[in-house]
Amino acid sequence: MKTMIKRWLQWSTLHRKGAASVEFVTILPLALLLALAVWQLALVGAAIMDTHSAVRDAVKIASMTGDSKFAEKEGKKSFGDSSAYDLKSLKVKIKGEDVRASAETKIPVLFMKSTPFSYTSSSEAPVLAPPPDDQFSAFGGLGGGPLPTGGGSLANPVAVAPGCGITCYSGHTGQDFPGAVGTPIVAAEAGTVTVRHLGNRSYGTYIIIDHGGGMQTLYAHMFPHQPLVKTGDRVKRGQPIGAIGNNGNSSGPHLHFEVKIGGRPVDPIPFLAY
Ligand SMILES: [Zn+2]
Repeated sequence: MKTMIKRWLQWSTLHRKGAASVEFVTILPLALLLALAVWQLALVGAAIMDTHSAVRDAVKIASMTGDSKFAEKEGKKSFGDSSAYDLKSLKVKIKGEDVRASAETKIPVLFMKSTPFSYTSSSEAPVLAPPPDDQFSAFGGLGGGPLPTGGGSLANPVAVAPGCGITCYSGHTGQDFPGAVGTPIVAAEAGTVTVRHLGNRSYGTYIIIDHGGGMQTLYAHMFPHQPLVKTGDRVKRGQPIGAIGNNGNSSGPHLHFEVKIGGRPVDPIPFLAY
Protein backbone atom coordinates (compact mmCIF):
# COMPACT_ATOMS: atom_id res chain seq x y z
CA MET A 1 0.00 0.00 0.00
CA LYS A 2 2.74 2.44 0.92
CA THR A 3 4.50 1.81 -2.37
CA MET A 4 1.25 2.36 -4.26
CA ILE A 5 0.78 5.79 -2.69
CA LYS A 6 4.41 6.61 -3.35
CA ARG A 7 4.01 5.67 -7.00
CA TRP A 8 0.81 7.67 -7.32
CA LEU A 9 2.53 10.72 -5.84
CA GLN A 10 5.43 10.29 -8.28
CA TRP A 11 3.03 9.94 -11.20
CA SER A 12 1.02 12.93 -10.02
CA THR A 13 4.12 15.17 -9.78
CA LEU A 14 5.22 14.11 -13.21
CA HIS A 15 1.75 14.76 -14.59
CA ARG A 16 1.58 18.21 -13.07
CA LYS A 17 4.96 19.10 -14.48
CA GLY A 18 3.70 17.85 -17.79
CA ALA A 19 0.59 20.01 -17.53
CA ALA A 20 2.71 23.06 -16.78
CA SER A 21 4.80 22.60 -19.93
CA VAL A 22 1.66 22.06 -22.04
CA GLU A 23 0.38 25.49 -20.87
CA PHE A 24 3.71 27.10 -21.73
CA VAL A 25 3.70 25.55 -25.17
CA THR A 26 0.14 26.88 -25.78
CA ILE A 27 0.77 30.45 -24.54
CA LEU A 28 4.00 31.14 -26.46
CA PRO A 29 2.48 30.87 -29.98
CA LEU A 30 -0.56 32.83 -28.85
CA ALA A 31 1.69 35.65 -27.66
CA LEU A 32 3.58 35.56 -30.95
CA LEU A 33 0.33 35.68 -32.90
CA LEU A 34 -0.83 38.65 -30.85
CA ALA A 35 2.46 40.46 -31.51
CA LEU A 36 2.09 39.78 -35.23
CA ALA A 37 -1.48 41.08 -35.19
CA VAL A 38 -0.32 44.31 -33.50
CA TRP A 39 2.47 44.65 -36.06
CA GLN A 40 0.08 44.05 -38.95
CA LEU A 41 -2.36 46.63 -37.56
CA ALA A 42 0.44 49.20 -37.17
CA LEU A 43 1.47 48.56 -40.79
CA VAL A 44 -2.09 49.02 -42.04
CA GLY A 45 -2.48 52.20 -39.97
CA ALA A 46 0.71 53.75 -41.33
CA ALA A 47 -0.18 52.81 -44.92
CA ILE A 48 -3.66 54.35 -44.58
CA MET A 49 -2.21 57.57 -43.14
CA ASP A 50 0.34 57.84 -45.97
CA THR A 51 -2.37 57.21 -48.57
CA HIS A 52 -4.51 59.98 -47.08
CA SER A 53 -1.53 62.40 -47.03
CA ALA A 54 -0.82 61.71 -50.71
CA VAL A 55 -4.46 62.28 -51.74
CA ARG A 56 -4.90 65.36 -49.55
CA ASP A 57 -1.74 67.07 -50.83
CA ALA A 58 -2.39 66.13 -54.46
CA VAL A 59 -5.88 67.66 -54.31
CA LYS A 60 -4.57 70.79 -52.61
CA ILE A 61 -1.82 71.33 -55.20
CA ALA A 62 -4.10 70.59 -58.16
CA SER A 63 -6.69 72.97 -56.72
CA MET A 64 -4.11 75.77 -56.50
CA THR A 65 -2.15 75.18 -59.70
CA GLY A 66 -4.64 73.48 -62.01
CA ASP A 67 -1.78 71.16 -62.97
CA SER A 68 -2.75 67.52 -62.44
CA LYS A 69 0.61 66.00 -63.43
CA PHE A 70 2.49 68.28 -61.06
CA ALA A 71 -0.04 67.46 -58.30
CA GLU A 72 0.48 63.72 -58.83
CA LYS A 73 4.24 64.16 -58.54
CA GLU A 74 3.97 66.20 -55.34
CA GLY A 75 1.36 63.82 -53.87
CA LYS A 76 3.73 60.90 -54.35
CA LYS A 77 6.35 62.81 -52.38
CA SER A 78 3.85 63.17 -49.51
CA PHE A 79 3.33 59.40 -49.49
CA GLY A 80 6.93 58.98 -48.43
CA ASP A 81 9.07 56.01 -49.34
CA SER A 82 8.15 53.24 -46.92
CA SER A 83 9.50 49.91 -48.07
CA ALA A 84 6.78 48.06 -46.15
CA TYR A 85 3.93 48.98 -48.52
CA ASP A 86 3.54 50.43 -52.01
CA LEU A 87 1.55 53.28 -53.50
CA LYS A 88 0.16 51.44 -56.50
CA SER A 89 -1.45 54.47 -58.14
CA LEU A 90 -2.19 58.14 -57.54
CA LYS A 91 -4.41 59.83 -60.09
CA VAL A 92 -5.44 63.45 -60.25
CA LYS A 93 -8.17 64.50 -62.64
CA ILE A 94 -9.36 68.00 -63.38
CA LYS A 95 -12.78 68.18 -64.96
CA GLY A 96 -14.12 71.67 -65.47
CA GLU A 97 -14.00 73.31 -62.06
CA ASP A 98 -13.45 70.12 -60.05
CA VAL A 99 -10.32 68.32 -58.93
CA ARG A 100 -10.52 64.67 -57.98
CA ALA A 101 -7.64 62.61 -56.64
CA SER A 102 -7.66 58.91 -55.86
CA ALA A 103 -4.95 56.57 -54.63
CA GLU A 104 -4.51 52.86 -54.14
CA THR A 105 -1.99 51.36 -51.75
CA LYS A 106 -0.94 47.71 -51.59
CA ILE A 107 -0.44 46.53 -48.02
CA PRO A 108 1.26 43.15 -47.56
CA VAL A 109 -0.18 40.53 -45.20
CA LEU A 110 2.67 39.37 -42.95
CA PHE A 111 4.09 36.01 -44.06
CA MET A 112 1.72 36.01 -47.04
CA LYS A 113 3.62 38.28 -49.40
CA SER A 114 1.82 36.96 -52.46
CA THR A 115 -1.59 38.17 -51.27
CA PRO A 116 -1.41 41.87 -50.38
CA PHE A 117 -4.68 43.74 -49.95
CA SER A 118 -5.52 47.14 -51.38
CA TYR A 119 -6.58 50.29 -49.62
CA THR A 120 -8.13 53.05 -51.72
CA SER A 121 -8.82 56.66 -50.85
CA SER A 122 -10.15 59.61 -52.83
CA SER A 123 -10.91 63.27 -52.34
CA GLU A 124 -12.42 66.15 -54.28
CA ALA A 125 -12.03 69.93 -54.28
CA PRO A 126 -12.87 72.87 -56.55
CA VAL A 127 -10.21 74.41 -58.77
CA LEU A 128 -9.48 77.75 -57.16
CA ALA A 129 -10.32 80.66 -59.44
CA PRO A 130 -7.02 82.30 -60.39
CA PRO A 131 -6.59 85.95 -59.41
CA PRO A 132 -6.24 88.31 -62.38
CA ASP A 133 -2.58 88.54 -63.37
CA ASP A 134 -2.57 92.22 -62.44
CA GLN A 135 1.05 92.10 -61.35
CA PHE A 136 1.88 92.37 -65.03
CA SER A 137 0.00 95.63 -65.48
CA ALA A 138 3.35 97.08 -64.38
CA PHE A 139 4.36 96.55 -68.01
CA GLY A 140 2.21 99.53 -68.91
CA GLY A 141 -1.16 98.00 -69.57
CA LEU A 142 -2.58 97.52 -73.00
CA GLY A 143 -1.07 98.51 -76.29
CA GLY A 144 1.20 101.36 -75.15
CA GLY A 145 3.91 101.18 -77.75
CA PRO A 146 3.86 101.99 -81.45
CA LEU A 147 3.32 99.04 -83.74
CA PRO A 148 6.34 98.17 -85.86
CA THR A 149 5.90 98.81 -89.54
CA GLY A 150 7.14 96.77 -92.42
CA GLY A 151 8.20 93.90 -90.19
CA GLY A 152 5.83 91.40 -91.66
CA SER A 153 3.67 89.06 -89.64
CA LEU A 154 4.73 86.62 -86.97
CA ALA A 155 4.34 82.88 -87.32
CA ASN A 156 1.38 81.49 -85.40
CA PRO A 157 2.86 80.13 -82.16
CA VAL A 158 0.35 77.24 -82.00
CA ALA A 159 -1.97 75.57 -84.48
CA VAL A 160 -5.11 76.25 -82.46
CA ALA A 161 -7.69 79.01 -82.64
CA PRO A 162 -7.24 82.10 -80.43
CA GLY A 163 -9.45 82.45 -77.35
CA CYS A 164 -9.45 85.14 -74.68
CA GLY A 165 -7.60 88.17 -76.07
CA ILE A 166 -5.81 91.18 -74.67
CA THR A 167 -9.07 93.03 -74.00
CA CYS A 168 -10.73 89.87 -72.62
CA TYR A 169 -10.41 91.12 -69.05
CA SER A 170 -8.80 94.00 -67.26
CA GLY A 171 -5.09 93.47 -66.82
CA HIS A 172 -4.75 90.73 -69.44
CA THR A 173 -1.48 91.28 -71.22
CA GLY A 174 -1.63 88.76 -74.05
CA GLN A 175 -3.58 86.45 -76.27
CA ASP A 176 -4.71 83.03 -75.01
CA PHE A 177 -4.83 79.91 -77.19
CA PRO A 178 -6.76 77.15 -75.45
CA GLY A 179 -5.57 73.72 -76.61
CA ALA A 180 -4.71 70.29 -75.33
CA VAL A 181 -1.73 69.87 -73.02
CA GLY A 182 1.21 68.85 -75.17
CA THR A 183 0.19 70.81 -78.30
CA PRO A 184 3.51 72.05 -79.78
CA ILE A 185 4.44 75.71 -79.45
CA VAL A 186 6.85 77.26 -81.96
CA ALA A 187 8.85 80.48 -81.95
CA ALA A 188 6.80 83.22 -83.65
CA GLU A 189 9.97 84.73 -85.12
CA ALA A 190 13.74 84.17 -85.09
CA GLY A 191 15.52 85.54 -82.05
CA THR A 192 17.39 84.87 -78.82
CA VAL A 193 15.88 83.32 -75.69
CA THR A 194 16.39 85.93 -72.98
CA VAL A 195 14.21 84.52 -70.20
CA ARG A 196 13.51 80.93 -69.28
CA HIS A 197 11.62 80.72 -66.01
CA LEU A 198 10.24 77.58 -64.39
CA GLY A 199 7.30 77.86 -62.02
CA ASN A 200 6.47 81.57 -61.93
CA ARG A 201 3.35 82.11 -59.82
CA SER A 202 1.44 83.76 -62.66
CA TYR A 203 3.15 82.65 -65.88
CA GLY A 204 4.06 79.16 -64.69
CA THR A 205 6.83 77.94 -66.97
CA TYR A 206 7.53 80.60 -69.57
CA ILE A 207 10.15 81.88 -71.97
CA ILE A 208 10.76 85.21 -73.65
CA ILE A 209 12.38 85.49 -77.07
CA ASP A 210 13.98 88.77 -78.09
CA HIS A 211 13.62 89.40 -81.81
CA GLY A 212 15.60 92.63 -81.93
CA GLY A 213 14.27 96.06 -82.80
CA GLY A 214 12.59 96.28 -79.38
CA MET A 215 10.26 93.38 -80.05
CA GLN A 216 9.84 90.37 -77.81
CA THR A 217 7.42 87.46 -77.59
CA LEU A 218 6.47 85.62 -74.41
CA TYR A 219 5.07 82.09 -74.09
CA ALA A 220 3.52 81.12 -70.73
CA HIS A 221 2.06 78.11 -68.84
CA MET A 222 4.28 75.78 -70.88
CA PHE A 223 4.53 72.04 -70.54
CA PRO A 224 6.65 70.19 -69.69
CA HIS A 225 8.29 72.09 -66.90
CA GLN A 226 11.50 71.99 -68.93
CA PRO A 227 11.06 73.96 -72.20
CA LEU A 228 13.00 72.77 -75.23
CA VAL A 229 15.18 75.88 -75.30
CA LYS A 230 17.30 77.65 -72.73
CA THR A 231 18.44 81.19 -72.06
CA GLY A 232 20.92 82.36 -74.70
CA ASP A 233 19.69 79.94 -77.38
CA ARG A 234 19.26 81.29 -80.89
CA VAL A 235 15.94 80.08 -82.28
CA LYS A 236 14.56 80.03 -85.80
CA ARG A 237 11.12 81.19 -86.81
CA GLY A 238 8.79 78.20 -86.42
CA GLN A 239 11.22 76.20 -84.27
CA PRO A 240 9.50 74.10 -81.57
CA ILE A 241 10.21 75.57 -78.13
CA GLY A 242 7.79 73.65 -75.89
CA ALA A 243 4.16 72.68 -75.62
CA ILE A 244 0.87 73.90 -74.16
CA GLY A 245 0.60 73.33 -70.42
CA ASN A 246 -1.53 74.40 -67.51
CA ASN A 247 0.75 75.70 -64.79
CA GLY A 248 1.03 79.01 -62.97
CA ASN A 249 -2.06 81.21 -62.92
CA SER A 250 -3.97 79.15 -65.46
CA SER A 251 -7.51 77.82 -65.22
CA GLY A 252 -7.18 75.38 -68.10
CA PRO A 253 -4.58 74.25 -70.64
CA HIS A 254 -3.67 77.13 -72.95
CA LEU A 255 -0.79 79.14 -74.33
CA HIS A 256 -0.67 82.70 -73.03
CA PHE A 257 1.18 84.53 -75.80
CA GLU A 258 2.45 88.09 -75.55
CA VAL A 259 3.99 90.45 -78.05
CA LYS A 260 5.94 93.26 -76.42
CA ILE A 261 7.13 96.37 -78.16
CA GLY A 262 9.63 98.37 -76.15
CA GLY A 263 8.73 96.24 -73.14
CA ARG A 264 4.99 96.97 -73.37
CA PRO A 265 2.47 94.29 -74.27
CA VAL A 266 0.44 94.96 -77.41
CA ASP A 267 -2.38 93.01 -79.04
CA PRO A 268 -0.69 90.02 -80.74
CA ILE A 269 -3.58 89.31 -83.12
CA PRO A 270 -2.63 91.95 -85.79
CA PHE A 271 0.81 90.27 -86.04
CA LEU A 272 -0.58 86.80 -86.61
CA ALA A 273 -2.15 85.04 -89.56
CA TYR A 274 -5.47 84.32 -87.88
ZN1 LIG B 1 -3.55 84.97 -70.89
